Amino acid sequence: MGGQWRALHLARLTCLASAGFHPRPCHPAVDSSPPSADLVVPDSPHRESAESLLRWAIGVLDLDAETDDQGHVTIRLPEKDRPAWNGKDEITATDSGSAGNADELLTLDGPLGRWLLEKLVASDGVVHARPSGQPISVGDVSTRLFPAYSVDNGQFHLAGCQLTDHPFLRLTFAGTEEDPNVRHVFVAPDGSTVSDELVARLGLDRLEPAGKPTPRIDEAALRSLAGAGRRIAAKNSTVRDPAAQSTEPLLTAVVWVRHVDGRLQFEIGENSEELAFSGWARLLEPKPWKARRSGRETFHLAATDDGAIDAAEEMAVCQQSGRRVLRQDLVTCSVTEQQVLPEFTEKCPVTGRPALRSEFSACEQCRQRVSRSNLQGGLCQACRELAPVRKDDPRLAWVMGEHRGLERWNRWRLAETETVYIARADGLLKRLLVVVDKESLAVRRLATAGRFSSDWVDVTPTQQSELLR
Ligand SMILES: [Zn+2]
Repeated sequence: MGGQWRALHLARLTCLASAGFHPRPCHPAVDSSPPSADLVVPDSPHRESAESLLRWAIGVLDLDAETDDQGHVTIRLPEKDRPAWNGKDEITATDSGSAGNADELLTLDGPLGRWLLEKLVASDGVVHARPSGQPISVGDVSTRLFPAYSVDNGQFHLAGCQLTDHPFLRLTFAGTEEDPNVRHVFVAPDGSTVSDELVARLGLDRLEPAGKPTPRIDEAALRSLAGAGRRIAAKNSTVRDPAAQSTEPLLTAVVWVRHVDGRLQFEIGENSEELAFSGWARLLEPKPWKARRSGRETFHLAATDDGAIDAAEEMAVCQQSGRRVLRQDLVTCSVTEQQVLPEFTEKCPVTGRPALRSEFSACEQCRQRVSRSNLQGGLCQACRELAPVRKDDPRLAWVMGEHRGLERWNRWRLAETETVYIARADGLLKRLLVVVDKESLAVRRLATAGRFSSDWVDVTPTQQSELLR
């Protein structure tokens, strides 16, 4: 854009300001430093035609207006506004290149455009708006959240819900000669820029009147936001001069965006759990509740038989007691595959896996109680798989360290379970079986058999002390 156009544009704004509509400055909040040649028109993807902005203004002002098929809008003027229009009681306006049958054109610098913008900011220099369709009430919040959750044998409700309005700013700037569309620049309540994505998600591009009572914003806050907006606008221009200032906005709208903070409370029996939520009301989505014990995120809550609330997906029934518990609290019986509480099981010393107590039998050789699935021909897996070891095997050496008499035997085989060593020595005439506790090295069984026999005969206490000494 050339300097010539800027000068022309400024002249137009000046002309606007001195028009005969008792203009009050549209933006008392904006700093009124004298225009310089550096004023730039901000760039923004949020654009609309002047006509569209003015039609929106007619709607926001709640004027008695009607639009016909050709897009002519007829405004029936309130009594108090008629003097400004030479006593007319209605005005017809259009956006076509020439007024034709209409009285006025929907242009920013025409009398109707100036009159509408003037009326928009009549009270405190800004127009108050809010995104259309944002949740407004606690009822709206419930409607949005409640369908997502279910609670077995219980209930849930809002345990607190606070809705607050936060001021965003929309600054509207006149376009350029090449692109006469007006451009909107948005400012967040903290003075930061608002991403295009957030503009769309919050509905800042579809505004309706804020309604009564209008939320309050103090002048200092407004001035600060407007200043931030001007800086954002200057940065969003195509001019690369860091000292550049934007043109004066045509219109400043305070856009009240509703924020919601609250808690959902889920109750089953005596117990309750909470889920806090916080965010822009329009973006409010049901979030899953995270169970403390299982860690599962869910929208479906239930309780165990002892009353603890958790995810319904994590509930399971003990197949021994019928108790409703968390899946993670059950173990699988390695024999029956039943899901049961650990209290009904014990750990098989050979497999290291739990099995129902009723599913244990004693091994005929080592006499350990092992899960039945581990027994074959009366022997546990350890006894079936005794492996040859040298006499200096550390495990064997440890056992012999305690029971010296065993050193007299040769040709050893050994296996171990979680709790015992099972060792067998094959002598010329006899075989010896010794089962020793791994921790205490106490002898659990000492037996002998013929050279080729597996019929073990327990030794007497006297024989035992002789054999071991
Ligand atoms: Zn055994």
